[in-house]
Amino acid sequence: MTKIAIIGAGLSGLSAAHLLKDYADITLFEKARGVSGRMSTRRAESYFFDHGAQYFTARTKPFQDFIQPLLNLGIIERWDARYVKFKGNQIIERRNWRDEEPRYVGVPGMNHVAKFLAKGQNIHINTRIASLNHQRAWQLTDEQGQQYPGFDWVICTAPSPQAVDLLPDSFKYHADIQAIKMRACFSLMLGFEQNIALDFEAAHVTDSDLSWIAVNSHKPQRPDLFTLMIHSSEDYAEAHIDDERDKVMQHLINKTSHIIGQDVSQANYKTIHGWRYANNADKKQKSSIFIDQDLKLAACGDWCLGGRVEGAFTSAYDLTKHMKESAL
Ligand SMILES: Cc1cc2nc3c(=O)[nH]c(=O)nc-3n(C[C@H](O)[C@H](O)[C@H](O)COP(=O)(O)OP(=O)(O)OC[C@H]3O[C@@H](n4cnc5c(N)ncnc54)[C@H](O)[C@@H]3O)c2cc1C
Repeated sequence: MTKIAIIGAGLSGLSAAHLLKDYADITLFEKARGVSGRMSTRRAESYFFDHGAQYFTARTKPFQDFIQPLLNLGIIERWDARYVKFKGNQIIERRNWRDEEPRYVGVPGMNHVAKFLAKGQNIHINTRIASLNHQRAWQLTDEQGQQYPGFDWVICTAPSPQAVDLLPDSFKYHADIQAIKMRACFSLMLGFEQNIALDFEAAHVTDSDLSWIAVNSHKPQRPDLFTLMIHSSEDYAEAHIDDERDKVMQHLINKTSHIIGQDVSQANYKTIHGWRYANNADKKQKSSIFIDQDLKLAACGDWCLGGRVEGAFTSAYDLTKHMKESAL
């Protein structure tokens, strides 16, 4: 059977592994301590935070079909939030997601989607692939110098700036991937002993250093303890990604208090996470398939398709469909 190495166990890597499992012998390599990538959930004291993807839509038939078993099993549920849009600290729009297309979340945490998809897969976690070499077959080497030889194909699902570092210059699409830029984001996590009275649970924010405020604990099957999940704007994060984290956290706390009109500095638990490669710079980018049949090397990820969870799946779907039809 064809042996395929997949670098990255976020949604695109795990989706590719699922879609190819009847066609090839798959091994995944993930640098983090667990699977999920940017669909992660952080547990801190008694609080839980989805600090990457907040929710996702399913607008295409292949993704709807893919998530249906997860919906049936209760791994995914709808999140019917009261939604508002802020311009600065003014609410300029109100909607209720209960009346609109479904917004889905993993339950009891976003990371449960990847945990479910990872079951039965051969995954090396805590394994950062540092280089790829090809002689008669592909050999992967991790940062400890451990070698993993004998792969017919390699699929890289790391964010585009990291993929470019890993893929050889001879890869047919090296320059195309290099041109796909990603932008940063900060996730501010606040846990409270008591609820804060708000008349929304999900908010996009414009004209601000913030882009998103959500009551994370309102999502289905979360623990009762009240939590807020706040994202910075990409512009703010790009300008401050290397700043001292306490300073960034204080700034975002002040902004949040100003926007929602309540002092959140009294949170019982506060922490911040910086994502250097959070999202595509070009959100309208059309799907691209990066598959080099001569080298037997391919790349996919949300960055092939304008970012977002559904884009991550679709890029894996398009790539593996192409591989199944023509390459394997
Ligand atoms: C703050 C934030 C908010 C977001 N909000 C939303 C939202 O509300 N809705 C939505 O649809 N999308 C959202 N997104 C985007 C969404 O999270 C992504 O589109 C999706 O999770 C990307 O999946 P992926 O598998 O392509 O990439 P990733 O999840 O990044 O997976 C790539 C994996 O590769 C691993 N990796 C990288 N390099 C190596 C290496 N050398 N060796 C081994 N492993 C490696 C990484 O550790 C990672 O796990 C958000 C993202 C962020 C950061």
